[in-house]
Amino acid sequence: MSDARLLETFLDLVRIDSPTGAESQVAEYCARQLKAAGCTVRFDDSAEQTGADVGNIIAHLEGSEVLRTLVLSAHMDCVDPCAGVEPVVEGGLVRSAGDTVLGGDDKAGIAAIIESIHRLAESGSHHGPVRVVLTVSEETGLQGAKALDHSVLDGGDLCLVLDADGEPGGIVIGAPTHYTFAAMFMGTTAHAGVSPEKGTSAISMAAKAICAFPQGRLDDETTANVGTISGGTATNVIPGSVLVTGECRSLDAARVELLRSGMEQAMNEAARAEGGRVTVTWTREYEGFRFDQGDPVVDLVSAACVDVGLVPRTFNTGGGSDGSIFASRIPTLVLSCGMSEVHSTSEQIKIADLESLTALMGAVIARMAK
Ligand SMILES: [Zn+2]
Repeated sequence: MSDARLLETFLDLVRIDSPTGAESQVAEYCARQLKAAGCTVRFDDSAEQTGADVGNIIAHLEGSEVLRTLVLSAHMDCVDPCAGVEPVVEGGLVRSAGDTVLGGDDKAGIAAIIESIHRLAESGSHHGPVRVVLTVSEETGLQGAKALDHSVLDGGDLCLVLDADGEPGGIVIGAPTHYTFAAMFMGTTAHAGVSPEKGTSAISMAAKAICAFPQGRLDDETTANVGTISGGTATNVIPGSVLVTGECRSLDAARVELLRSGMEQAMNEAARAEGGRVTVTWTREYEGFRFDQGDPVVDLVSAACVDVGLVPRTFNTGGGSDGSIFASRIPTLVLSCGMSEVHSTSEQIKIADLESLTALMGAVIARMAK
């Protein structure tokens, strides 16, 4: 019976449109479900900051006694194309009809959270408090998580963000510190045919700078990239300004700082050598996190995986998630939810994976009550 309810909840969720910034309908559905399962539910005031049509959901299920507090999180928005998702259930799988993503990223996580709260409330078993944070606008730079009042995480002992692809059992134990930059190279415009001597090309400066620092995978833990370049006005004008944007990431916090200063130095030297200047603005998108294999929270979740017949697999990621934002406030792990080929119209999920993810949440809650 409860398996049927889990699938029904997942299908309901994917049928509700929730593009980034317009999550209010799906949020209302989630709030209703969480209330029905016994949670108190509120929306925060993050919409002012994110521009979304609704805030993040913060729900709380009282513990049956004073035990450790678990925070469960997933995001409510989906990447395009996600309007009018028609889920197709076939051969133990759920996929979209083919014109849209499925939206299992991240509605698989939401469905597992809602169902595990229902089951917990119905089981009558001892459990600690469970807090649920469902965010808006994750896909466009973790906006909801960044705008969340992070004091809602205080008092929590462990946060699980249900938002990684791959079969359940996957546990992300390391994620990078991530910086982005915008570099404005400034030269001097001049007519390229009549008086090129009077010009200083900002494009030449940017090109020299980009060639001077390494890009791609720099080591197991570190990456760098130039993402966009824009500038210049016409073929006969020496370009006076060029905007270059890019990023660097590393699991090693010291390594990313070194890389960042090296990139900035290369940009300054290239601009100076060409007789121009550059202004580089850096944004730290999020801080990294890293757990050792024997860390108690990793052990707890690994043991819970075994409890429900899953093989725990720990791994690092080069990507960010809401977990990257929460990790500076509370011990946070990001878990695989079973979704595959996410962000594509071939996205799919096994119903058995939805079930085992839900069972895993129950096992974590049970272990935290020991
Ligand atoms: Zn996601």
